[in-house]
Amino acid sequence: MIDIKSLSRQELEELLASMGQPKFRAGQVFRWLHGGAESFDEMTNLPQALRAQLKERAALTAPQVERKQVSRLDGTTKYLWRLADGNCVESVLMSYQHGNSICVSSEVGCLMGCAFCASTLGGLVRRLSAGEILDQIIFAQKESGRKISNIVLMGIGEPLDNFDAVMRFLELVNDPDGLGIGMRHISLSTCGLADKIDKLASYRLQLTLSVSLHAPDDESRSRLMPVNRAVGVDRLMESCKNYFAVTGRRISYEYALVDGVNDRDWQADLLARRLRDIPSHVNLIGLNEVRESPLKPSRRMRAFQQRLEQQGITVTVRRRLGRDIDASCGQLRRKTLGIGEKE
Ligand code: SAH
Repeated sequence: MIDIKSLSRQELEELLASMGQPKFRAGQVFRWLHGGAESFDEMTNLPQALRAQLKERAALTAPQVERKQVSRLDGTTKYLWRLADGNCVESVLMSYQHGNSICVSSEVGCLMGCAFCASTLGGLVRRLSAGEILDQIIFAQKESGRKISNIVLMGIGEPLDNFDAVMRFLELVNDPDGLGIGMRHISLSTCGLADKIDKLASYRLQLTLSVSLHAPDDESRSRLMPVNRAVGVDRLMESCKNYFAVTGRRISYEYALVDGVNDRDWQADLLARRLRDIPSHVNLIGLNEVRESPLKPSRRMRAFQQRLEQQGITVTVRRRLGRDIDASCGQLRRKTLGIGEKE
């Protein structure tokens, strides 16, 4: 069966041409798909015979809401979606003054093994298709009735480990006949796969790249993020410099402060030194405690922030939305399905 929602505009045109259809049909089908149609029968402006043909050859994905939690504090809404094959992923819908933003997953589980992260506890199950990444936005919008204007690829999974599907997703979500969300309204967060950052740079997209740095020195970064053992901070920073040189886009560095691991003054100083000659922005995050992990949040947030600022670094502290609903990545999937639970 053809995964029709993952097809590019051109591939969809080719498919419909192979069925003897005129070009405008592709636009019609595209708009139905991206508007949240759940069956070909809903596509009432298509001829009956075409709908029947499509049903035979193509599969239409539509995730089901397995669980939904709404924060009483700020309205943040967390969805646990059940995919067609029974696997689950999460998305979080957040409201800001400038519009609604959604955090989407790119994989079922994650291969990267970060010590502080709930999403990686059960390992990687599989990568999502472009259509399945897109569905999280289409159906969150449909279910909530809230128009989504911003996307962060910061949910479960490592987007650059699912490179081709993510690139395809970006093209689809950008299409004015679909969701029409511009690259400047999209952020992609990576644990720092340097060669993939280089590859992404070559596309020269206007999206915002967030790099989950979490430590400026190899010893602490490798302790928190096994991926660093292969890449190393020097090599990662080279890719970040190159990314800025090629795209002109300032990188945002995520830094979750962990008690006694990455919150020392010398680490703030080293971080400032590393970022001195590239336009950058540090986003400090209070660590969300994961039950299976011994890591604790740092109490030095303010001091660390000030020390960076004194050295000319732009720093923000991430606002915590949805504190009451386990809104941070991977926690709802893990709790509902018992993933990575120790006996
Ligand atoms: N794989 C990508 C995107 C998913 S993780 C990445 O690594 O960037 C999204 C962000 O949440 C990353 O910055 C990640 O390091 C951070 N994160 C994961 N678990 C966390 C926790 N328990 N507390 C605070 N931040 C966490």
